Amino acid sequence: MPMRRLGRNFRTLSCLMVLGWGATAVAAFAVDAAQELGLKPGFNLFSKQQDIETGKEYSAEIDQQLPLLNDPETLRYINDLGKRLTQYEPLPADYPWTFKVVNTKDINAFALPGGFIYVNRGTIEVAENEAQLAGVIAHETGHVVMRHGTHQASQRLAAELPLAILGAMLGQSSDLTSQLTQMVVSVGVNSLFLHNSRTAESQADAVGTYVLYHAGYVPQAMAQFFAILEKKYPAAATQSPVAQFFSDHPNPGNRIQAVNAEVSQLGPPVQGKTDSPEFEVVKKRLLGMPAPPGKSEVIPAQSGGTIGRVSRAEVMPSGNFKNLVHDVFRISYPDNWQVFGDTSTAVTIAPRAGISENAVAYGVMINSFQPESGRAAGSLDDATHQLLDSLRQGNPDLKVIGHAEDIRVNQRPGKVVELTGPSPILDSTGHPMREHDWLVAVQRSDGSLLYMVCVSPEQDFQSFRPTFERMVQSLQMR
Ligand SMILES: [Zn+2]
Repeated sequence: MPMRRLGRNFRTLSCLMVLGWGATAVAAFAVDAAQELGLKPGFNLFSKQQDIETGKEYSAEIDQQLPLLNDPETLRYINDLGKRLTQYEPLPADYPWTFKVVNTKDINAFALPGGFIYVNRGTIEVAENEAQLAGVIAHETGHVVMRHGTHQASQRLAAELPLAILGAMLGQSSDLTSQLTQMVVSVGVNSLFLHNSRTAESQADAVGTYVLYHAGYVPQAMAQFFAILEKKYPAAATQSPVAQFFSDHPNPGNRIQAVNAEVSQLGPPVQGKTDSPEFEVVKKRLLGMPAPPGKSEVIPAQSGGTIGRVSRAEVMPSGNFKNLVHDVFRISYPDNWQVFGDTSTAVTIAPRAGISENAVAYGVMINSFQPESGRAAGSLDDATHQLLDSLRQGNPDLKVIGHAEDIRVNQRPGKVVELTGPSPILDSTGHPMREHDWLVAVQRSDGSLLYMVCVSPEQDFQSFRPTFERMVQSLQMR
């Protein structure tokens, strides 16, 4: 359901003094190798330490949301391989590198700022040899050492904030961090850190190829692997297991030629290694394991008010609840969901993967509504009808199912109404899924309403209903 409050206005958040741009220039340090390859990290407002802190924070969340593979042998292998590769970076690489495996057949890999790298099980299973897998990992490390995630965030901040405010934030790391948090809330971790530009891609390719060459692998292995993927799984197919990979890592064009040109620059030709017995053991091991839990739904890439891929694992509420103390109410909510908004305004409590900047697909919106006086002023019925009219104005496709029923929420009179409308999630044919909304409105002593809209696609509503009920029961006015 559409949501107007979530996209926060950055401009209201800062009030600081003015400094110049000079301090923002990225430290000019780059080892000779990087200079020769023309690899210079782009404009960045953040420090390397902030890359690490940011990566740590969001990787902790991602670990909760994605099905990680907990196989010690595979993890030992991928960490050994990854850490060995990072010894050959053309740029400073003193990050707390961690390598994790996501238990899914989709073929993808991604890196968060600060050295947190995720490789899908599917990637290891389809790689033909260790050099190809090393190529994918080396490419991801390229995004880290080139600091693409916070570079993109910096560019966004620079575009969205007036120069004066931006200049003032330099050196105020807490302000920058809070801006970053706001931005992640509004655009999501995925689009901020994981979708790379073509320029970023060719840089990550250059780093990856450099690392392969110096680590003693066939340096073309990375480009070859990407080419095989593109050929084997046409990206146009919606259910393509590589759709997300090429959405996160778009082909910069002429990849093979660029890599060959670079290789000739790197030094004398080498007989790089292609495989290792350890790789073959791990690949076999993975292929022999039970299939990953339920394949995630693959949905066309994010656009407008739609929400991209959402797997149930990313949105299912945990059975553990925690409390939110808002200025006007208290409520309990699943501890793997998050509160968006602040404690004096409307809030949305939702799984991060279930919302976008302007829509909620899974979660609960809580707001207050001031009915106009006049009509049957003061009556709960009238206030509820006014609320429904106002909601439908913002969302004309919303339809009421049945009638408003009476309900009591912690001794207070209220109404509950079932609604239906289009979900921001598209089905495999590109049409919005059907959404089920459950509106609960409670009258406050001043006649205004506090209301909750519990949202989920129709097909999942029964699974979410117990959580929504528990949240409603926990609601207390302050
Ligand atoms: Zn990439």
